[in-house]
Amino acid sequence: MEKHEFKELKERLLSARKNGYDRLPDGELAAMETYCAAYKAFLDAGKTERLCAAEAIRLAEAAGYRPYIRGTALSAGDKVYVSNRGKSVLLARIGKRSLAEGCQITAAHIDSPRLDLKPNPLYEDGELAYFKTHYYGGIRKYQWVTIPLELHGVAALRDGTAVQVNIGADEGDPRLVITDLLPHLGAEQNKKTLGEAIPGETLNLLLGSQPIGDAEESGRVKLAVMKLLHDKYGITEDDFTSAELEAVPAVKATDIGLDRSMIGAYGHDDRVCAYAALRALLDLEETPEKTAVCVLADKEEIGSDGVTGMQSAAFDTFLEDLCESQNVPVRVCYEASFCLSADVTAAYDPNFSDVYEKRNAAWLNHGIGLCKYTGARGKSGASDADAETVAYARRIFDGAGVIWQIAELGKVDAGGGGTVAVYMANRNITTLDAGVPVLAMHAPFETVAKLDCYETYKGMKAVFQAENWI
Ligand code: MN
Ligand code: MN
Repeated sequence: MEKHEFKELKERLLSARKNGYDRLPDGELAAMETYCAAYKAFLDAGKTERLCAAEAIRLAEAAGYRPYIRGTALSAGDKVYVSNRGKSVLLARIGKRSLAEGCQITAAHIDSPRLDLKPNPLYEDGELAYFKTHYYGGIRKYQWVTIPLELHGVAALRDGTAVQVNIGADEGDPRLVITDLLPHLGAEQNKKTLGEAIPGETLNLLLGSQPIGDAEESGRVKLAVMKLLHDKYGITEDDFTSAELEAVPAVKATDIGLDRSMIGAYGHDDRVCAYAALRALLDLEETPEKTAVCVLADKEEIGSDGVTGMQSAAFDTFLEDLCESQNVPVRVCYEASFCLSADVTAAYDPNFSDVYEKRNAAWLNHGIGLCKYTGARGKSGASDADAETVAYARRIFDGAGVIWQIAELGKVDAGGGGTVAVYMANRNITTLDAGVPVLAMHAPFETVAKLDCYETYKGMKAVFQAENWI
């Protein structure tokens, strides 16, 4: 075989994995930077699911979206949203075609792993005041000590009002911290496994050290801290009972790398896909053929249960309401719909190469990662999209010039994970997983590549603009 024949045959028959920078048109670099600057601002504005939902609604209203009122007539081009208890947002741009022909859905989640306060959190020990925490989602506990933390959330009072709490996010605010053992006294701790070295009950937030009152009194530091909280928020210790306060890393989204090609931040999982889906919906210039639906879900990190999670009937109710306005049974809409379950995947990390299977790992800068299945072991817990569904995604992404890659989370026996995909698929909606590859996923500070963020946005837009599902 001649050399040129071999080359031609190779190019024609074998797949060539190319870095996204070798495929991205030069003209798109500026657009990528602009997009990523807005994404960083979105991250800083929404470090909890409540704050993220509020920011999403603010952006949606600026783009002409209005709260949907049940029973209102809808026509092509209409922009509506529903806030599910301020913690999850459902948005729709009504398409030209009937909902009987299905809708194009993107579903991402806006909750991230964090430390919630216990319902009775405040105590004093060793003349120091603390909050007890209960971690939310899959965290590696050792990563959450000795880093600056801030506190967000609400204290809901008996009179029906709610007080917004924000400690540490504003310029000049104090921060909170969880201490760790000094190495000098760490001999026993060093012998423990990473999972055991920091027990959950030691994740206690340091709040204060300055006592008030006379020296003979007890609980003086605790009282001093409670007084500060009362002065600022008007709350008493009993109000913690009906509060949702979340400790999150006190760090802003920032460029990473000398080349500024990456973004480091808390909560990329899954606000990186949530923002891509939301921005893509808001940026749709023309009325789409099919109704475009964007779901920003809560509770994914703890299994998507609960009234604001993807398993909640809140989604069905929203779609039923939209369908009723067109006299379409929701089941007819579901079976003709397509959903991109937009959630992050693990990026190949050369530092920990032994848990990845290089040929099927998502690589930084190779674009949005499609995952035919997630799950653990023998695909347990996965919806496992069929071949036709993956082909559909190939077609719409290639048609729109989206840089994408196909990926698995890691080695077959290394572990696993799930997304909301299974809950959409269980509704009889054709569903495929796709999302941004992340380094150090679930860490207080995660890293993604700007190119992958931007390509995910392009991918979401392509899904909304796609006309036909098979
Ligand atoms: Mn996720
Ligand atoms: Mn996650």
